This record gives sequence, C-alpha cells and structure tokens, in this order.
Amino acid sequence: MHSEAEAFLIRDIISNGPMDVGTFMQFALCHPQYGYYMTRDPFGRAGDFTTAPEISQMFGEMIGAWVVDIWRKMGSPAEVLLIEAGPGRGILMADMLRIASRIEGFAAAAKIYLMEASPALIEKQREALSQQNISWISTIGDVPKNAPVIIIGNEFLDALPVRQFLLEKGQWSERVIAYNAQQEILTFDFAASDPPLSFATEEGLYEISESRSSFVRDCCALIGANKGAALFIDYGHPHTVPGDTLQAVKGHTYWNVLNNIGEADVTSHVDFGALMQEVSLHQDFWYHFAHQGAFLRELGIEARAAQLRTKDASVEVALARLTEKDQMGDLFKVLCFHAGLSQAPEGFAA
Ligand code: SAH
Repeated sequence: MHSEAEAFLIRDIISNGPMDVGTFMQFALCHPQYGYYMTRDPFGRAGDFTTAPEISQMFGEMIGAWVVDIWRKMGSPAEVLLIEAGPGRGILMADMLRIASRIEGFAAAAKIYLMEASPALIEKQREALSQQNISWISTIGDVPKNAPVIIIGNEFLDALPVRQFLLEKGQWSERVIAYNAQQEILTFDFAASDPPLSFATEEGLYEISESRSSFVRDCCALIGANKGAALFIDYGHPHTVPGDTLQAVKGHTYWNVLNNIGEADVTSHVDFGALMQEVSLHQDFWYHFAHQGAFLRELGIEARAAQLRTKDASVEVALARLTEKDQMGDLFKVLCFHAGLSQAPEGFAA
C-alpha cells in the first residue's frame, strides 16, 4: 500500500519521468501538503532528531555573545537586522536574545527576521518568541537592504536540496528516482547527464547543491549592500569529495531515503568547500571555517558550563555532546563569512 505522499510522487514520475534527487528532497521536505516540515514539529526526544539548541541553552548563549561581538565590530550601528534561517522551534533565537539583550543598546538596535518555510514551525516560533517583535520572511531577498545584517543558521543548509552525479569510467550520469511498475516501488536509477563539475577526476558520486550556493550568493548580496556577517553551523565537510551522504531520519533512526516519504527528515552533508568557493567569488569578503567543538570552546562554553554545573549536573553531558570529537564536536562545522567588519570574528583562531 502506498502512502498518499508516495502515490502523489509515483503519479508525477509516471507523467514526467524520473525525478532528480534535489526535486525529490524539495518535495519530501517542503511540499505544502506532504512535506515533512510543513505540518509537524520534528524536534526533541519524542520527535525525530535533536539539534544543538535543543540540547542545551549554552549553544544559543555562545552564539548570542558572538552576535553582539559582530555588532560591535560593525561599529555598534543604531540598526542591525538579525536574520535566522530555518529557526525550528525558535529556541536558538530565544537563547541568543536572552544574552545579547543584556548588552547596552543591542536590543534597541536589533530587528529580528525569521526565514521559515513551515506554517507549523512559525506557530512554534511565535510562542517561543512571544516577547519579541518579529518579521517572518520566505526568502533572504525579502529583507530591506538598508542596514547591516547578521545572518545565522543552524542545521538549515543540510535541508536545502542536493543533486547527485556519478562519475564512472570517465562518464557522468545523474542519480534519479524512478518507478518500477512491475514491483510497484520507487527505486534509484541513473540518467545520462552533462558533466556537472569541471575539476572532478576521482570516480564516485558527487553531491551538488545549487540551492545552497545560490542561498550563500543571496547572503553575500545582502551583506555586500551594507556590511555584515553570516554564520552557518551544520554537519558536513571542508572540500568537495565524492560520497553519498543523502540520509533520512525518523524517530532518531536512519531509514532508506525512499521509505517514509514526507514522514522522515531527508538531508545531506554540507559541502562547505563549494560554499567557501562561492564566497571567494565576492569581492572584499572574508571567510572562516572551524569545527563546532573548537568554535564553542573558543567562545567560552567551558566557563559557562562551570557556572551552570552547580545548579544542574546534566550540563556535563550536554557540554560533551556539543563539543567532543566523537559526538557533535568534529562532525559539525562552522562557516562564517563577512564584509565590512573592523576586526575578524571570534571563534576561529586555531
Ligand atoms: N535551526 C533549528 C532547526 C533546524 S531544522 C535547530 O537547530 O533546531 C531545519 C529548519 O529549516 C526547519 O525550521 C525547517 O522548517 C526550515 N526549512 C527547511 N527548508 C527551508 C526553506 N527552503 N526555507 C525556509 N526554511 C526552511
């Protein structure tokens, strides 16, 4: 028996032919009716996955302190647009603002924008941030271009679609989703393709995300119009290397990507190398890259944990989850790019 989402996809593939992986991801996550994020709250122990802000308030507090430091390095402007892409339940923004608002002048200067595709999550964000004056936007281009900006995104980039291309025996093909009418199942297949990358020589499956690159390009355009910085945290790697990282997660377990369509979170690891390449095309921009563990330690998470530890013993476990090499510390990376700051941002010294 096919689910409604599967039946919809099968009809599409029968009419239009095999579907590329990016179109599939877009469908599985953001289709207004069947998309995974669109109707539910996927977070936490009872949900499907747990993100860093959900693990501990320390994560958002460190980023809040980072944001204030950036604001100062912009010359403490009277207005700054603080934009979060993919804010989930709004916890990161709430933790950031709790810290940042203690700094003289920051709360009055900050205009908050949340870029969110999911009506269900917008409601959660409205509850979590009921004390704040918030504007919701659907693309980064919806923000006025007349003030400095700080853009934040945790586990946002991984949700943007990737396409997958195979280089084998000197030939390129694209991985697609096809319908096997005999067995009445969706399967992966390959379709002939033009070379998507000019520099790749090693054989294997390459993931290319025009959505992520174009999002970074839009961020650069916004930052470049005035000045500002962007900070993105996600699982991923620093160079473009072959490897199939497409994954589906439901109930804290990995599943076949073609099962539970619309019921599981479908993401892929972020190729930060491609994004740094994109930033380097923009004049007068700088970028920095770090592992999450090193970044958070440099911002002082250990001192904050020592303060909180006296009240709450679980702080130790949270600190380890966020920073240890065998937990999130090395798998998760931090990319910052900026233009027009008086000094380099904190967190990237090592
Ligand atoms: N930052 C949060 C949530 C991460 S999950 C946290 O760390 O807990 C990904 C988030 O991005 C969700 O809020 C999801 O609804 C949103 N999202 C996914 N694709 C999007 C898109 N194309 N535009 C805007 N938001 C999107």
